[in-house]
Amino acid sequence: GNACASAGPALLFVKTSRVGEQGRRFYACSACRDRKDCSFFQWEDEKVSETRLAAREEYNRNRQPSFTHRQNVERLKNFVVLPLSQRKFCQDCQQLLLPSEWQEHSGHQFQCDISTAQLKAPSQLLYPLENKKTNAQYLFANRSCQFLLDLIIALGFRRVLSVGTPRLHEMIQSKASQDEDFSVRSLLLDIDFRYSQFYAEDEFCHYNMFNHYFFGGEAAHETCQQFLYQNTGERVIMVTDPPFGGLVEALASSFKKLMAMWRETEKEGDNNQEMPVFWIFPYFFESRILEFFPSFSMMDYQVDYDNHALYKHGKTGRRQSPVRIFTNITPRMIVLPIEEGYRFCTICQRYVSSGNQHCEICNSCTSKDGRRWKHCALCNKCVKPSWFHCDKCNCCALQDHSCERTNAGCFVCGKAGHKRSTCPRLSLA
Ligand code: SAH
Ligand code: ZN
Ligand code: ZN
Ligand code: ZN
Ligand code: ZN
Repeated sequence: GNACASAGPALLFVKTSRVGEQGRRFYACSACRDRKDCSFFQWEDEKVSETRLAAREEYNRNRQPSFTHRQNVERLKNFVVLPLSQRKFCQDCQQLLLPSEWQEHSGHQFQCDISTAQLKAPSQLLYPLENKKTNAQYLFANRSCQFLLDLIIALGFRRVLSVGTPRLHEMIQSKASQDEDFSVRSLLLDIDFRYSQFYAEDEFCHYNMFNHYFFGGEAAHETCQQFLYQNTGERVIMVTDPPFGGLVEALASSFKKLMAMWRETEKEGDNNQEMPVFWIFPYFFESRILEFFPSFSMMDYQVDYDNHALYKHGKTGRRQSPVRIFTNITPRMIVLPIEEGYRFCTICQRYVSSGNQHCEICNSCTSKDGRRWKHCALCNKCVKPSWFHCDKCNCCALQDHSCERTNAGCFVCGKAGHKRSTCPRLSLA
């Protein structure tokens, strides 16, 4: 059928060529949009031969994980009782090994003496996936992860649905195992099946957030549903940090389904409420996200990562991250750290970056990137400090921009003249 083994059901895409021409529709894998990574591709109106179907099934079989989640849970039980000297992790296969399996992996690179602490920090044991477009894993810097958790606790949440946030999940799990009084719980939903080696079935669900697909079927769906059911005093928040190459529309549709699952479990109180959400994403997607979630607003907090390519060193030498928190929680409740320079704007009723000045004309703290923006009277809005008003283009732009325009807009910002890969908004210039 129309499915890729590592991602579940395919999504229908439209390939648009020239403006005005009707696009041809095709099915492609929802997670591996780069055709180099996944062979699944099929025109909507295409007839697929028997041999190709057979080849596809063969390919899918080979990509099937070697163990089920249940088997991995059993394996972990056997692993933790081994003496330290026998606890090996195959780096080539990204797999914990039992002694009987060492032979099969001869010639592979092993990591030895895997401690209990290492088993509790799988995001540091596994290498981050690097598929540029859709599966790149960018792990939170400890400072940001701790900030998120402190904020979640301060806001009174006791359950975290971690969608694509393995490091946050891991921080919560490891605190819970060390401290009896720590009452926060987390359920990780992620497409990275390697995590099933470290977590029980009520701690991790293999999930595709591009098509809201639970690989574990009805049982996994039920696990998630159960988790979302909140007893009094156990409020739930969903925290998600999707790959930035992901389609906002597909993500939004899945998140709405998760929010609907939460709403269905809600027994008491009014039904108009929305599940509280932190959606972590770059600031230049603000308008796209608000299109789908008008109740959300963007916080100034800069989320930092250990291994992020989108960084630039700011003037102060501190790394500037373009990644923000989008949330449906009232902005003034999101207290940002004063010691990192954030301050409260009493007019906007939210915390803003130190460089974000309140503009009297816009009547808002307008900076998106943390630097002080300037108001352009001709554009009638605030713009980046490095921009100047161009009379030819009739808008503000970088001084050395080219005034020529082409038809094809950029995927990220919608502007003409460049492709996503060279979008100026991906840097802070
Ligand atoms: N900053 C986060 C990690 C974000 S990287 C942290 O430190 O916890 C993006 C995460 O989303 C990765 O864990 C990746 O495995 C997961 N992911 C990527 N594509 C996905 C998909 N289609 N469905 C579900 N999870 C996905
Ligand atoms: Zn191996
Ligand atoms: Zn303000
Ligand atoms: Zn202004
Ligand atoms: Zn201007």
